[in-house]
Amino acid sequence: MSDILLEFEGLAKSFGGVRALDGLDMSVKRGEIIGLIGPNGSGKTTSFNVMTGVYSPTQGRVRFDGQDITGLSPRKVYEAGIARTFQRSRLCLPLSIFDNIMIGNHARVNNGLWFNLMNRRGLRQQVEDGYAKARDLVAGFSSNLADRMFDPVGALPMIERRRIEICRALVSSPKLLLLDEPSAGMTHDETAQLMDDILAVRDRMGDLSIIIIEHEMGVIERLTDHCVVLSYGKKISEGSYAQIAADSEVQTAYLGV
Ligand code: ADP
Repeated sequence: MSDILLEFEGLAKSFGGVRALDGLDMSVKRGEIIGLIGPNGSGKTTSFNVMTGVYSPTQGRVRFDGQDITGLSPRKVYEAGIARTFQRSRLCLPLSIFDNIMIGNHARVNNGLWFNLMNRRGLRQQVEDGYAKARDLVAGFSSNLADRMFDPVGALPMIERRRIEICRALVSSPKLLLLDEPSAGMTHDETAQLMDDILAVRDRMGDLSIIIIEHEMGVIERLTDHCVVLSYGKKISEGSYAQIAADSEVQTAYLGV
């Protein structure tokens, strides 16, 4: 098995005259945390959207876990093992922690109406297994959330909501987790807790790979093994945080030094 989990080859995506991605090559190893950084409009979100099948690339290939996934539907990509969180929370606030996580599980074990009608016991077993898995995931975080599985998510503070979003992505047992600005909307202390959480998730999940889009450079410095810097849809630098922070092109394009 190759130690490369994900590979972009010459990935391009245009919207009319705008080249959101312009020949991007990038690879992610198993178990690695990658920081994807760059100024607004540099193509970070577009790369997540191409990776997850929301957009087909105009050119280039995406390979994942030995398979060419270019142009697959979001559902097929999810089944292949890529899960994501979004910059703006997509939790359903009136529903419970359990329900919100099961939305992620349902997408994975959608049996179809016929199976559900004919196989009530199997369905019940799936719900029980789903509950056990959701509770295990929640219990893995440093809080008493696991005892509140039936509380509505809307009653929880931001940090707990973000934890639930991560659990919802993890319930599909992905090989690659995409985090879009996990620190957005959180205080300094909450961000510090969340960084501990993300590192703990990586330790628990063995060779889970993670790509993080993040503007908070403290988060990138602490969490990532490797960084890729984009500008106008192209990679302008990559390496450890120390390497890219010392790169004069990155300083000019992004860090504002
Ligand atoms: P980032 O996430 O780095 O801020 P994006 O990937 O969102 O950048 O955007 C890259 C470029 O592509 C920007 O110029 C943006 O306006 C453009 N873009 C992104 N999505 C669309 C879209 N759906 N339609 C038109 N232009 C888009």
